[in-house]
Amino acid sequence: MTVSQTDARLLPEAERFTSGPVAPRGAGDHQGEWIPTLDPSTGREITTIAACSAEQVDATVRSAHQAFTSSWGRMSPYARERVLHRLADLIEEHSLELAQYDALESGKPVAFVEAIDIGLAVEQFRYYAGWPTKVTGAVVAVPDTSAHVYTTRRPYGVVAAITPWNFPLCQAAIKIAPALAAGNAVVVKPSELTSLSTLRLAELALEAGMPEGTLSVVTGPGAGAGAALVAHPLVPAISFTGSEAVGRRLATQAGADLKHISLELGGKNPTVVFADADVPAAAAMAATTAFFYTGQVCFAGSRLMVEASVLDEVLQVVHDHARDLVVGPGLAPGSTMGPLVSAAHRDKVRGYVEGVAGSGARVTTGGNDIGGELADGFFFEPTVVLNPTDDSPVASEEVFGPVLVVQTFRDEEELLRRANGTSFGLTAGLWTNDVRRAHRLADQLQAGTVWVNTYGDFNAGAPWGGTKASGLGRDCGPDGLGKYLETKTIWMAG
Ligand code: NAD
Repeated sequence: MTVSQTDARLLPEAERFTSGPVAPRGAGDHQGEWIPTLDPSTGREITTIAACSAEQVDATVRSAHQAFTSSWGRMSPYARERVLHRLADLIEEHSLELAQYDALESGKPVAFVEAIDIGLAVEQFRYYAGWPTKVTGAVVAVPDTSAHVYTTRRPYGVVAAITPWNFPLCQAAIKIAPALAAGNAVVVKPSELTSLSTLRLAELALEAGMPEGTLSVVTGPGAGAGAALVAHPLVPAISFTGSEAVGRRLATQAGADLKHISLELGGKNPTVVFADADVPAAAAMAATTAFFYTGQVCFAGSRLMVEASVLDEVLQVVHDHARDLVVGPGLAPGSTMGPLVSAAHRDKVRGYVEGVAGSGARVTTGGNDIGGELADGFFFEPTVVLNPTDDSPVASEEVFGPVLVVQTFRDEEELLRRANGTSFGLTAGLWTNDVRRAHRLADQLQAGTVWVNTYGDFNAGAPWGGTKASGLGRDCGPDGLGKYLETKTIWMAG
């Protein structure tokens, strides 16, 4: 592991958003509290954002409802398609600016953010721009042949989108693009740690020709603005991505209020390597996905399960990868791994690693905060923990840091039992050159996505979501559109 420092400058247009308080979009003038957002690479304050009050959230939702009933919701599908394409173009034109906000606030390497996160956001808008013109209903055969019975698919109205800090713009796009394509208006509540790119997106949406109120952003802590948004009576549908704990709370509330809710939650994702696989390729990918974005990724391959006979070969590759990472600030051009998002989160991650002491497991590399020139930021070494027990917190819980657990297995039956023995079910990686085994295990691994001889691939057209405690419902693809529509049946007498 080496260390990089930043000499990078923000673009002039990005300085507008980082040199004074940043107001919400669509919530009117903000008179109340402002809260700081911090740069996790340095611990310094970037700017302040509004902690929106319940009254502001109410005003925003009402204006979104107005847009739904009078402008966006009445626009022809062809017109919606054009606006969504224009927004995709604008995101692409502003990709570095948007990437700088996310890199600054989350600490993720800016080059990766621009290529991956912003690229995926553009892909979402382009993919779903193709859908408004393809939403159709059906004619239903009934016994009375003189009756005409048909269905239409209607948007809900105002969708509340609640997003996490680890993929700020990308997660916003994954929710906003299909919800808007379906004809809904959207109010987004981004994470209070990473609001800037979503606020800028709402400006770009206006520039793209979206009517006022169609896409609004309320900011502030989840318990304030977020809670007021999901509880609002004019919000019939909630799309949430975040932690299991908050997801469960919102699901309980949505159940009580009879609101539609979809949940994209956490994971503890096994990467399984059989001895018959391309072991160097498998190990290299396993290390990449464990430390990518400092492990702060829902689909991080944080649990590597290796057939015992190839353990040494795999460990060698993983350790080499950890050694070659260039750790540094998100804006530093050479960084390949940034900090953790906050000091509190770093303490939590360190706690998982310290928790293995005396258990028989071994920390084979890393395990410490990074000091020196990076001491003011929230950096933690890429870390490998060898052979913790399945029920230990580091092996069974979502650590959300650069901590790779490595375990061995002897046969397929043992592997399946243990890989499926967690509460989560978001993703799994499977490396084998035996095609029958690949099909068998792809079917039996309990996960929303199973990658075979690859890992981490993502596309707007491919349904995405988790089983068990990893979530309810799917983003992306036709499923991702369908959750923002409901079916209406029209029964006309003959
Ligand atoms: P979090 O649950 O702490 O916060 C997520 C969002 O919910 C934030 O905007 C927060 O302000 C808001 N919130 C918190 N309390 C709320 C309340 N009472 N009412 C309404 N909103 C509230 O999650 P996080 O730390 O921001 O994100 C990390 C988590 O997100 C991890 O568990 C990660 O696995 C998960 N995640 C999942 C996916 C996926 O696709 N499955 C993708 C990215 C992140």
